[in-house]
Amino acid sequence: LVSRKKKPDDTIINIKGELIGTGEQHFVMGPCAVESYDQVKQVAKALKDQGLTLMRGGAFKPRTSPYDFQGLGMEGLKILRQVADEENLAVISEILNPNDLEEALDYVDVVQIGARNMQNFELLKAAGAIRKPVLLKRGLSATIEEFMYAAEYILAQGNDQIILCERGIRTYEKATRNTLDISAVPILKKETHLPVMVDVTHSTGRRDLLLPAAKAALAIGADGVMAEVHPDPAVALSDSAQQMNIPQFHEFMNELKKHSVVH
Ligand code: PEP
Ligand code: MN
Repeated sequence: LVSRKKKPDDTIINIKGELIGTGEQHFVMGPCAVESYDQVKQVAKALKDQGLTLMRGGAFKPRTSPYDFQGLGMEGLKILRQVADEENLAVISEILNPNDLEEALDYVDVVQIGARNMQNFELLKAAGAIRKPVLLKRGLSATIEEFMYAAEYILAQGNDQIILCERGIRTYEKATRNTLDISAVPILKKETHLPVMVDVTHSTGRRDLLLPAAKAALAIGADGVMAEVHPDPAVALSDSAQQMNIPQFHEFMNELKKHSVVH
C-alpha cells in the first residue's frame, strides 16, 4: 500500500490547512520536551514570527535512561494544545503507549511515532485506526525496507495520512549522534507516495550541523525539516546540546529562506 507502483500520485497530508506533499517545503519546529507553558509560548511566538504553523514538542519522552526526565505526559499535551490554540498552530507530539492514543487525540493534530517505537506493531496498528496524520520516524537501526513496512502497518489499518521522517541511523561513526542517511530521502520519495521529512536535530546531535543538514535535506527533495528550538537550551531538560535558542532559530530559518522554496 505504501508503494508508488500501487499509487503513482503523491499523498497530500492536510495539517490544519498546511498541505504536505505538494513539493513545497515545511518546518516542524519546537522544543525537544514540553517543560512549561511559558517555554512553549516563547517558542510558539518565534514560530509565528517566521510564519510557521507546525509545532512539535515531546510530552511522553522515550528517554534512554529511566532516570532522565520522562516528560509531562498528558499535562504536556494540554499545554501544547492551549498554546497552539492561542497562536493558531498545529501540534505534533509523540505517543508511546497505544492506551494513551485516544485521549491524546483531543490535544494533538499529528501523532508522532518515535524511532524507538518504529516496530512497536501494536502502536502502529492503533495509529492506523485513527483518522489523524501520523509522523513516523525511522528506527535507530532500521533499513529503509523495514521503515516502509512499518508505514505499511499503519496504512493496512486504513490510515494513509503518514509522513515519513528520516532521523539518522546508528553506524560506527561517532562525530555525529546518528548518521543522517540523506539518500533515504530520494529512495523513499521514489519507492513510496508518502511525504518525507528530515529531523536534523536527532540525526546530527550537533547544533553546528543543523543548517547544512537542513540545506542538504531540502536540496535532495525532502518535503520538510524537523528541528528543536528551546528558549534556553543550556537548561533544557533533554537534548540541551543540539537545540537552537530563539535567535539561532531565526538565523536558521532566514538562511534557509534565502536558498530555497520556503513558504
Ligand atoms: C523526538 O523527536 O522527540 C525524538 C525522541 O526523536 P527520535 O524518536 O527520532 O529519537
Ligand atoms: Mn530531542
